[in-house]
Amino acid sequence: MNILITGGAGFIGSHVVRLFVNKYPHYNIYNLDLLTYAGNLENLKDIEERENYTFIKEDINDSIRINSLFEKYKFDAVIHLAAESHVDRSITDPLAFVRTNIMGTVNLLNAFKEVWKDDFKGKKFYHISTDEVYGTLGTTGFFTETTPYDPNSPYSASKASSDHFVRAYGETYGLPYVITNCSNNYGPYQFPEKLIPLFINNIIKNKPLPLYGDGKYTRDWLYVIDHAIAIDLVFHKGEIKETYNIGGFNEWQNIDLVKVLCKLTDEKLNRPEGSSEQLITYVKDRPGHDKRYAIDASKINEKLGWKPSVTFEEGLSKTIDWYLDNQQWLDHVTSGQYQKYYEEMYKNR
Ligand code: NAD
Repeated sequence: MNILITGGAGFIGSHVVRLFVNKYPHYNIYNLDLLTYAGNLENLKDIEERENYTFIKEDINDSIRINSLFEKYKFDAVIHLAAESHVDRSITDPLAFVRTNIMGTVNLLNAFKEVWKDDFKGKKFYHISTDEVYGTLGTTGFFTETTPYDPNSPYSASKASSDHFVRAYGETYGLPYVITNCSNNYGPYQFPEKLIPLFINNIIKNKPLPLYGDGKYTRDWLYVIDHAIAIDLVFHKGEIKETYNIGGFNEWQNIDLVKVLCKLTDEKLNRPEGSSEQLITYVKDRPGHDKRYAIDASKINEKLGWKPSVTFEEGLSKTIDWYLDNQQWLDHVTSGQYQKYYEEMYKNR
């Protein structure tokens, strides 16, 4: 089986590629990634020499190249993770999100459809999406697979649109798809523009911890390896034309989460208790900021038997250890362009 994994040099994608390359030596895994600021082949150093692994540097927006790659490799299945993924960036440059997340996805759907000429037996297009497509919750309730889409940011609007295109290709052309919508991931190899690695990095470097608004935004957090395990399960056992929500059953207000991060990191660095909490700095809120996300993951739990394998404390502890042990990776990805982005983001706050 030839499997195309897009965005495999990014955070979640690299964990999915590693899992598939190691677990399924009889599959040919093709990792297609443009290597934007968020993609980094250092994330996959341990498997780059493996016989069942091929890296392809390509842009999913280049439909001609994408079509010819599908012609050449006849991918039986696609696991599509490539995306612009950062909400703050989507507020400053929405069109980049329209191009990659919507048009890039449609390019892949077209190439997949063309190469199999509507004979899709044994084929699968697996689209990875987010819980942010559902919009925001009040203080109670959960997102289920039937919650109406109500995206509030350019990022979530672009992901919602791509989900609709995938579903529409299923209805219109019979393309066999499956979609998962997952909550916030954390863990090794996450680019430090996202909350948890940003704060770990800043705690280590004694820099301010910029917290949006009143710090009471609530997110459900999932350890990235548990997401990769869920993707493996849905890829092999998920039903065609179904959507599954994936979540950690693990809701945290940002302020409480940051305090735990400070405590755990201080302990590991042998710093006096409470010293990093002084770095917390409230900054001007993000426009259109969703108050609360919470996933009801009972469908994937009941139908496929999936549940998170690590507790939040364990996952956070492993994550902090990884960032402490991989300072070179962190310094590498936070140099140059990232510095400019960081200064621009926080200059007026
Ligand atoms: P990421 O930003 O770390 O990685 C995205 C990858 O896509 C990068 O390697 C990048 O180089 C690549 N890419 C970007 N534009 C491309 C293009 N035009 N052509 C080819 N490759 C391109 O993102 P992530 O956090 O790993 O998220 C992966 C997927 O999972 C995304 O679709 C995202 O919407 C979804 N998701 C993420 C989370 C989360 O918490 N991070 C939660 C739910 C769903």
